[in-house]
Amino acid sequence: MSREKTVAQVFGQNVFNDKVMRERLPKKVYEELKKTIEGRKDLDPTIADVVAGAMKEWAVEKGATHYTHWFQPLTGSTAEKHDSFITAPKADGSVLMEFSGKELIKGEPDASSFPSGGLRATFEARGYTAWDCTSPAFVREDEAGAILCIPTAFCSYTGEALDQKTPLLRSMSAIETQALRLLRLFGNTTSRKVIPSVGVEQEYFIVDREKYLKRKDLIFTGRTLFGAMPPKGQELDDHYFGVIRPRIGAFMKDVNEELWKLGVSAKTQHNEVAPAQHELAPIYAECNVAADHNQIIMETLKRVANKHGLQCLLHEKPFAGVNGSGKHNNWSLTTDDGINLLDPGKKPHENKQFQLVLACVLKAVDTHADLLRESAADVGNENRLGANEAPPAIISVFLGTQLEDMLEQVLETGEATHSLKSSKLETGVKTLPDLVKDATDRNRTSPFAFTGNKFEFRMVGSRDSVAECNVVLNTIVAEAFCEACDIIEAAPDKDEAIHNVIVDFISKHYRIVFNGNGYSDEWVEEAASRGLPNIKSMVEAIPALTTPKAIALFQKFGVFTEAELQSRAEIQYEAYSKALNIEVKAMLDIAGKSIIPSVLRYAHELADTVLSMQEVGITYSAEKDMLKDIARLVEGAKAAYNKLKVMDERAQEFAEGKERAEFYKYEVEPVMLALRKPIDELEMIVDKEAWPMPSYGDLLFEV
Ligand code: ADP
Ligand code: MG
Repeated sequence: MSREKTVAQVFGQNVFNDKVMRERLPKKVYEELKKTIEGRKDLDPTIADVVAGAMKEWAVEKGATHYTHWFQPLTGSTAEKHDSFITAPKADGSVLMEFSGKELIKGEPDASSFPSGGLRATFEARGYTAWDCTSPAFVREDEAGAILCIPTAFCSYTGEALDQKTPLLRSMSAIETQALRLLRLFGNTTSRKVIPSVGVEQEYFIVDREKYLKRKDLIFTGRTLFGAMPPKGQELDDHYFGVIRPRIGAFMKDVNEELWKLGVSAKTQHNEVAPAQHELAPIYAECNVAADHNQIIMETLKRVANKHGLQCLLHEKPFAGVNGSGKHNNWSLTTDDGINLLDPGKKPHENKQFQLVLACVLKAVDTHADLLRESAADVGNENRLGANEAPPAIISVFLGTQLEDMLEQVLETGEATHSLKSSKLETGVKTLPDLVKDATDRNRTSPFAFTGNKFEFRMVGSRDSVAECNVVLNTIVAEAFCEACDIIEAAPDKDEAIHNVIVDFISKHYRIVFNGNGYSDEWVEEAASRGLPNIKSMVEAIPALTTPKAIALFQKFGVFTEAELQSRAEIQYEAYSKALNIEVKAMLDIAGKSIIPSVLRYAHELADTVLSMQEVGITYSAEKDMLKDIARLVEGAKAAYNKLKVMDERAQEFAEGKERAEFYKYEVEPVMLALRKPIDELEMIVDKEAWPMPSYGDLLFEV
């Protein structure tokens, strides 16, 4: 960004946003399109040519040569296929730049090349991408030049969703309908839309790219498969919010500028708990746009890091023994006229609408805790969730003192009569300003925490799409709203019915509320006695997708068919097995071809020394001692190596899906750890010069 340009000038510069559309589209076309974007009217295909033409003109002025339908198949990342705007050369050899309405609206990638979890066996392989006009198109500039990216949904020939966006859009529509019903109960006749607002805090690691390139495990799997802890870890907590180092600062500055150009409102950045770990958060946006923006953020972090000779690691647990990365999904419900349904106001005890919404959220989360847990299941997150750094695998809701007190009043007397107030913060220093405290402290250990006017779901993995958890949140809350509205709308006395539903939902689902330390062992016991599920792993979480309860829920609100849910479960199992298969292969490669041979070479040197010392009559030497230790550890490593090789071959004999995934989880994973252990011990005693790759210390402290 040149000095003269302000953020305001740069912001959204590469986005085909409302302002650009108003300037460049004929008034009638603009108004028609706007109606579709706002959900008031289906897309009129006759305006598509005009919109496409304007979009192309604009993109070409920005230097774009190609366009792509940008979509999110179930591979864990985004996909795109670039087509250039040029038409077939004319007789005189010249070409034109063209882009038709048809090309804007519909694309046809080969669906059989993307995960479909068995849907493709039952249905046609053909798949379509469909323009999502609610998420603005943008021009992305990178090494491939400038490309017009059109956010799209991706479906099979028969309309089954093969992506993250389609169910997300469906779930947004479900919650909108039910939330509007709920608002009408309270006499609101003016709000026309209710939209889930989402703000995603993204954590990531940054390491030096040259060192990264010397770590095959990072390259192939995104995480280290070996590595002894450095003498200093994160025990001093001195990195958290610490001063940002110059090299990282330059990188962050570039990231922000790139994101601003793409209309992503990058807002906060800071160092995180672990060394080399950082966080970036944009200002919240409509759920669907926020999910797209989060993908753009992840892509941008990686791309810009490379330009700075750095590597961004988005894996949930790149380093064992060091905090992993997640992303916090902040979620609230906002109307088109600016009402936040999750805002308790100054006197929550008098705010019946808020109480009903809260009661519904508690009911939703308690009833479908297994689904919410599943939405955060992701291969990389396996090594993070439940460890002493991330929320436990048990879903509970933190409300804080003020709301907890209110709910207790409701439970005791059927009615809340007062709200705890926020108080002044006493610092004991006269020259510091008096601050007004929030009514409630924070609880970092809670997976689902109320933070003032939104809920923060903290289980999602750093690499994962936020679409999944928002699909679940939107749909389960829609169901609770729907149940509440069914009862209240049918009742002769609405106020009494509202009151009764609040009391009923809260008393039935209060067990999900927990304000204590989610990391403690006592909580695990307490949660079990409350009957809350503790789903420890991804393979245990996946079945939640296809329970009769889940199928009924998603079908009722038109978010997933049963076939789509089955296919998603299948894809998750396959993703798990594939990732572990790659990790095993990488471990065998690194241990067998690199680490063990290096250690043996080093051992030979030691042996030579021992022999020559013996020749001159010296029988004791430190070398001899070390040799014994090394021999013992290499023996252990070699045994585990041989076993792992056999196990990986056996895994392929299991049917793809659940069986194979379980074999990897319960049989293969322990052997991976058995191989890692002696090798990490070897790293501690073998000469650093002889070790074939950079250590944790090199990666974490030398950026
Ligand atoms: P906190 O300190 O509570 O974590 P931050 O200000 O750091 O809050 O915001 C975290 C994320 O939550 C940001 O992306 C922010 O834009 C988003 N956020 C703030 N208010 C809301 C809201 N009402 N709904 C959804 N997200 C929100
Ligand atoms: Mg936060």
